[in-house]
Amino acid sequence: MTEPNCDVVIIGAGAAGLYALHRVRGLGLSAKVFEKGDGVGGTWYWNRYPGARCDVESWDYCYTFSEELEQEWEWTERFPTQPELERYFNHVADRFDLRRDIEFDTRVEQARFDDDRNCWIVRTSKGATVAARFLISAAGCLSEVSTPRFKGANTFEGQQIHTARWPKGGMDVTGMRVGVIGTGSTGVQAIPQLAKLAAQLFVFQRTPQFAIPARNRPLDDDTLEKLKHNYRERWALKRESPTGMGRRRPKVSSALELDEATRTRLLENSWALGGPGFARTFDDVMTDAESNQLTAQFVRDKIKDKVEVPDVAESLLEIDHPLGARRLIVEIDYFETYNRPNVTLVDVAANPIEEITPQGLRTADGFSYDLDLIVYATGFDGMTGALLAMDIQGIGGLALRDKWANGAGAYLGLVASGFPNLFMITGPGSPAVYSNVIFSIEQHVDWITDCLAHMLDHDLDRIDSDPEAEAEWTRQVHEIAAQSIVGKTDSWWTGANIDGKPKGVTFYLGGTNTYAAICDQIAAQGYEGFVMR
Ligand code: NAP
Repeated sequence: MTEPNCDVVIIGAGAAGLYALHRVRGLGLSAKVFEKGDGVGGTWYWNRYPGARCDVESWDYCYTFSEELEQEWEWTERFPTQPELERYFNHVADRFDLRRDIEFDTRVEQARFDDDRNCWIVRTSKGATVAARFLISAAGCLSEVSTPRFKGANTFEGQQIHTARWPKGGMDVTGMRVGVIGTGSTGVQAIPQLAKLAAQLFVFQRTPQFAIPARNRPLDDDTLEKLKHNYRERWALKRESPTGMGRRRPKVSSALELDEATRTRLLENSWALGGPGFARTFDDVMTDAESNQLTAQFVRDKIKDKVEVPDVAESLLEIDHPLGARRLIVEIDYFETYNRPNVTLVDVAANPIEEITPQGLRTADGFSYDLDLIVYATGFDGMTGALLAMDIQGIGGLALRDKWANGAGAYLGLVASGFPNLFMITGPGSPAVYSNVIFSIEQHVDWITDCLAHMLDHDLDRIDSDPEAEAEWTRQVHEIAAQSIVGKTDSWWTGANIDGKPKGVTFYLGGTNTYAAICDQIAAQGYEGFVMR
């Protein structure tokens, strides 16, 4: 029986994979990272579409593990752009000498657990096979793109592109007739930028959504100095908060306990500050329908004021879900863009896109739109897409696809029973996409590497989760989700955007602080619910 030729294989060199590599090396283990792109950064490597930027503030969307890193890195804006984030992750890769263990342009196609040898046999797109004692998936929650298959798509004579596959050197859309399909976070960021250059821009909107102004701004020296001075205090706040952001809990517990004038004043203050924190104006916005409705009405009125043509405003305001039931969008000049003469909003809820033609696109009412470029801002197969794109087989050849055929879940979102020694960073059952994801990534990587250290110290070579513990955890995840507004409407959050995918919220909504405390307690109690040998 040959020995595994590597201690740990890590899938992906985004924020999760880079930090996992750094920590695993710190344990004295050998590691190999496979990355399908030709550079680091994950989401921030792939999403190069015009306007791409993070909607979490730069001072929260960064690693906290290295004081030197946080002191030497200088953010330039409140909400960092894709190029700035890509530079950040490249800096991290260089600073911690990570590249020598990363194989780029290499996809993991299959990972099969060899029960006899107690290792994972990982096969890559380059035909190589590696045997590893442990496998860590850092494949990401939003990395498997979703492009609807429209009839006739292959006949189109112009260009078609998904936003997450925007070319590295950019694309000049000057003077083009551009159609954008999709008005989620991505579409809302791309549309204002494309509108500035395109001759004509058609936005094909199926579901309008709430969006809050970003109020982005450059960071001056004074702000940067204060940030650097306060980082450690902020990290403590992050750990206490339910979302992994360095913000305090809202002071006002309910919108309903205020008179109208006070409520409006507070909403105006939050609106003026902008950003995702708006949803936290009152503590019960996500749990109380009336509080939510009052907050949502305020946003509707604001949107109405921004759009000059009443019919267009009406189309943008046909929002069919509570505020926050879909991921809240943060925008820059989105609604104002519809006041431009070269921009047309097309309602494809009433008249779905029926066909892509050689010249453009035709909707169900028979209207044709001549286009040079079709931009698919149509999102991702979230949470599980990247994991299930690989052929992962556990004990007895059980396929992860089969295990999750009726819904995904893993104990603590970390280990799926029957798949020993496979850790999933931000896997289903963890807060993942319902948090400041870089905070959740660090928390998971720290927990996983502490667990590996424990196993090494105690001569343990296998960890699996107990099926009963896993089932109970998944039950709790669903129970908490049932009490929240989150996911009360179809979207990628519920898996509804992918044909055939089981519907339901798979992420933990009980708060990142509660979740981390549970993970720590379980570790302290000898990894209760896990089976180690
Ligand atoms: P998304 O939220 O899933 O939006 C996809 C859009 O495409 C929706 O408007 C959807 O309409 C539309 N669509 C899909 N299929 C369609 C069809 N056949 N016909 C017409 N319209 C169709 O995807 P996303 O905008 O890429 O965002 C996904 C997530 O990525 C975000 O929620 C966020 O977590 C993350 N993200 C973050 C940032 C940031 O940090 N700033 C930026 C971008 C993305 P329906 O709603 O009707 O399905």
